[in-house]
Amino acid sequence: MAPIPDFPSKARAADAARILIVGGGAGGLQLATRLGSTLGRRGLAQIVLVDRLPTHFWKPLLHEAASGHRDPASHTIEYAAQAKRHGFEFVQGELRAVDRARRIATIGAVVDQDGTQIVPQREMDYHDLVLAVGSVTNFFNVPGAARHALPLEHVGHAEDFRKKFLAACAKVNHLADAPAALPTALPAIQPPTQPARPVCINVIGAGATGVELAAALRHAVGQLAAYRFRALDPERDVRIRLIEGAPRVLPVLDPRISGRTQAQLERLHVEVLTGTRVARVEEEAIVTSSGERLPADMTIWAAGVAGPAMLRSIDGLALSASNQVIVTDTLQTPDDPHMFAFGDCAACPSGTSSAYLPPRAQVAHQQAVYLSQAFAQRLAGKPVAGFVFRDAGTVVSLGQSGALYQADLRVSARAVIVDGPAAAGLYRLLYRKHLSGVHGIGRTLLQTLGQLLHSYGRPSIKLH
Ligand SMILES: Cc1cc2nc3c(=O)[nH]c(=O)nc-3n(C[C@H](O)[C@H](O)[C@H](O)COP(=O)(O)OP(=O)(O)OC[C@H]3O[C@@H](n4cnc5c(N)ncnc54)[C@H](O)[C@@H]3O)c2cc1C
Repeated sequence: MAPIPDFPSKARAADAARILIVGGGAGGLQLATRLGSTLGRRGLAQIVLVDRLPTHFWKPLLHEAASGHRDPASHTIEYAAQAKRHGFEFVQGELRAVDRARRIATIGAVVDQDGTQIVPQREMDYHDLVLAVGSVTNFFNVPGAARHALPLEHVGHAEDFRKKFLAACAKVNHLADAPAALPTALPAIQPPTQPARPVCINVIGAGATGVELAAALRHAVGQLAAYRFRALDPERDVRIRLIEGAPRVLPVLDPRISGRTQAQLERLHVEVLTGTRVARVEEEAIVTSSGERLPADMTIWAAGVAGPAMLRSIDGLALSASNQVIVTDTLQTPDDPHMFAFGDCAACPSGTSSAYLPPRAQVAHQQAVYLSQAFAQRLAGKPVAGFVFRDAGTVVSLGQSGALYQADLRVSARAVIVDGPAAAGLYRLLYRKHLSGVHGIGRTLLQTLGQLLHSYGRPSIKLH
C-alpha cells in the first residue's frame, strides 16, 4: 500500500471528505477510533461519530447490568473524551432521515430529561455514510409482547429491569419476614409467613442472551438473599423460567452444548421449557400456544432481533426480512457506493451459505477492522477486497457456574467444546479485547487494574 502522507494540519481536515459513522456501539466505536487515529489525525478525512446517547456501554454486558453484577457507571465510555483522544468528532443525536441523492443526514434534536430541547435538529452532509445502528428487539408480532415484556437493548432497559427485579425481591422478602397476624396474645418471637406465591420471572428465548440472563438472575437472587434480603429463600420465593420455542436451548449451537447448558441451568433451579411457543403476553401472565397460562411478575424478551424501524424511512434502501440493510461483501449498499452498513443492522452475505452473518459482537468487531483498512485503501487509490468473516467460536457464560465455548474448526467435522475455567477465562477476555480495540493495550491493563481495586471489598452485586 502506498504510504499515507502525514498531514497534521487542521486546515487540511476542514475540507477533507467527511465519513459519518452513525452508532457508537461494539462496531461503530471501534471504527471511529481506528479511522480517527489514522485518517482523521492526518487530515485525510474528517471522521464524525453520531450516537443518540452520550456514552458507550458494551452490549454483551447488558445481562450483567440487568442482574446487578456489573455497575454500568464504571464501564461506560464518554464518546466526547474518546473523540478528543483519537482524532474524531462526536455529535450527539439520533439519525432521523437520509437524503441519499444530496448525501445529507438529518440528526434529531437533543432534549433533556424534562423534554426541553438542548440542541435543535440538524443536517449534516457526508462523503460516506456508515450505518452501525445495531438492532432492536424483535417481538415477532406476538400479541401483548411489545407492551408487557421488557426488552434488553441498552443500559436504560437494563437499569429499569434491575430496579423492578430488586423491588420484587424486596417485596417477597418483606412478605416472608412479616409476622403472622395472631388474634390472641403476641408470642415473643413470631414465625414468618409464607408469601402467597413466589415472584415469577419469565425469560423468553433461550439463545445466548436468554441463557446468560437466566443464569445471572439465579446467582443474583442468591447474592441478594445473602447480603440484604435475609428472609428470602432463593428457590422457594423466586421462580425463573426460561422459555424456548425450539426443541433445545441454544438451538444454533452444537447439541452437546445445549445438553450441558440445560443441565447446568436446572442445577441452578432455572425451569427450562423447550418446545414452548409464547402465544400472548399479558400484564401478569404469559399464555403458551397450547393454552397454558404461566404467571408472570416480570417478562423479559430475548427471542430475537431486527434492524431499527428508522431504516425503513430511508428511501430506496434494500432491507432483509429482519429489516437489516442488505450490503455486498464490501459492506456497501448495492446501489449506493457512498452508503455502508455493518454489525447487527446489516445483512451481510456469509460467503459460505445463503444465510447472512449472525448479529454478534465478533462480526461487528471484524467488520470495523475491515472497514478501517478499506477506507485507507480507497483513499490511497488501491483496490479493496471483500470482507471475510473468521469465526473464532462462541462462548456462553453461566455466571459463577462457568462458561461453555464452541469452536467450529475446519479440520474437524465435529465442533470442539470447552468448559470449565478455560471457557470462563475466555469469556472474560472478550470484553478486555473490545476495550483494547478502543483504548489500546496499556490503557486497558491500567483500567482493568483500577476496576479490580475498585471492586475489592465491595459486594459482588449492586444492592440498591
Ligand atoms: C444481553 C446481550 C448479550 C450479548 N452477548 C453477546 C456475546 O456474548 N457475544 C457476541 O458476539 N454478541 C453478543 N451480543 C450481541 C452483540 O451485543 C451485538 O451483536 C453487538 O453489540 C452489535 O454491535 P453493533 O455495533 O452492530 O450495534 P450496537 O452495539 O447495538 O450499537 C448500536 C449503537 O447505535 C446507536 N444507535 C441506534 N440507533 C441510532 C440512531 N437512530 N441514531 C444514532 N445512534 C443510534 C446506539 O445507541 C448504539 O450505541 C449480546 C447482546 C445482548 C443484548
